[in-house]
Amino acid sequence: MSKYRKNYGSFYCDIQALHPEVTGSCMLCVVRLPDGKKFKFVVDCGLFQERKYWEFNKNLPFNANDVQFVLITHNHVDHVGRLALLSRKGYGGKYYASEDTCKLLPLCLRDSGRILASSCKAHNENPIYEEEDIDTVVNNLQQVVPREQFKPCENVVVTAIRNNHLVGAVSYLVQIKYPGFEDINILFTGDIKEQNMFLEDTSVPKWIRDLPLTIVTESTYGNERATGKPVFKHNLIRALKRGGSVVVPVFSLGRTQEVLYVLKTLQDEGKISSDIPIYLDGKLAIAYTKMYSSGSLNIKPFMVDFLPENLRFVEGDKKAKRRDIKADTSQKIILCSSGMGTFGSAPSYIQHYIKIKNCMIHFSGYCTEGSVGRTLKEAAPGTEVEVCGLMVEKEADVEYTDEFSGHAHEDDLIDYLSCFNDIKLLAINHGEEDSKRQFGRDAKQEVSPKDIFVLDRENAVRINSFGFEKSFKTKF
Ligand SMILES: [Zn+2]
Ligand SMILES: [Zn+2]
Repeated sequence: MSKYRKNYGSFYCDIQALHPEVTGSCMLCVVRLPDGKKFKFVVDCGLFQERKYWEFNKNLPFNANDVQFVLITHNHVDHVGRLALLSRKGYGGKYYASEDTCKLLPLCLRDSGRILASSCKAHNENPIYEEEDIDTVVNNLQQVVPREQFKPCENVVVTAIRNNHLVGAVSYLVQIKYPGFEDINILFTGDIKEQNMFLEDTSVPKWIRDLPLTIVTESTYGNERATGKPVFKHNLIRALKRGGSVVVPVFSLGRTQEVLYVLKTLQDEGKISSDIPIYLDGKLAIAYTKMYSSGSLNIKPFMVDFLPENLRFVEGDKKAKRRDIKADTSQKIILCSSGMGTFGSAPSYIQHYIKIKNCMIHFSGYCTEGSVGRTLKEAAPGTEVEVCGLMVEKEADVEYTDEFSGHAHEDDLIDYLSCFNDIKLLAINHGEEDSKRQFGRDAKQEVSPKDIFVLDRENAVRINSFGFEKSFKTKF
């Protein structure tokens, strides 16, 4: 028997997910080397946004002192919103991220820190972390270059691979090495998407596609085929023709800029009048939009010119401006964050416009359970519905689209995974329960990895150089 097989049980990596479903994304990996040494690393540390998981935000169910390094896939709050808690709990090492993520992250962290602090105050709870913990994260950011290997610690080599989920988004190949043993190769996809109107197309290098791999994949839309039907333009034009106003809840980064670009193309094609004012209300959304148009991010050069005419940023005395916007009954388009309608400026606009019959609230992306977007979807027209503490009658049209989705749908995920030639284990995470299970069944048939495992907060997996070793219950 070879040396590897005799000893392989002593060289492993335990992969544990802190998140049961989509938000609060955080992978904790515990490596054991053949010489008995152990160390941890973390991929993302996001905020739980579902009300039912709020309590999970308050603590880290592991000791952060002995974490060796932290990898950040992309700048979404459900992936980065609790990085400062890692600092607070004693992690003093580097946070690795792409160039664009390093530019965008400080804005996101300070904004989510403020929201979190005020939410804790409102509930008479201690803050989850302090301003200085955010500073620690920002000061310890380390830029990575896609496709270039780096060594975050002894025995580990990491390669970032750009992906088109979001500007700055990367997947990570983590290779754990020990002399005389086969490498343990893990690819963390992060959130993935193949195409993005602002970004150049990208692909996974062949040498990575040929490796024996454990892939930890997202599955947000793992049980949904892409509808392929863009409905946003059509719905928007319909609402505007009726004379009503349209409210579009948007995610600050990516979605806001995509929707703005669609509005510009509609103006250019003469399908909507540039006399109709377009308001953008969201501090972060405005800041990101200015970064996009300043050309400081790695987006396609010709896409820097994406802003529609008659665009007005809601800045300064926002309360008064919002009041004026709502009081003025003339037709307008309002982009407001957050994308699920639950936070930021969106609730105040939704509470107002949902009561007006010829208006439209058009959600532009994924709405998690318990969010305003999901609640409105489930409410029948004409019934009373609660929007952030206020009971309102649902009179306006409420529309949804997944055409801007930053996530690969099931068929795209299958396509993406099919490019890998030796998947030892496919570990599925970052999806609602049904989505993960369904995707697991389909991927088994169409991708044929040696093993499949569904990760959640309770169930973790131990892998070695040959893939799956065993599953176990976490202590979370
Ligand atoms: Zn994301
Ligand atoms: Zn995500």
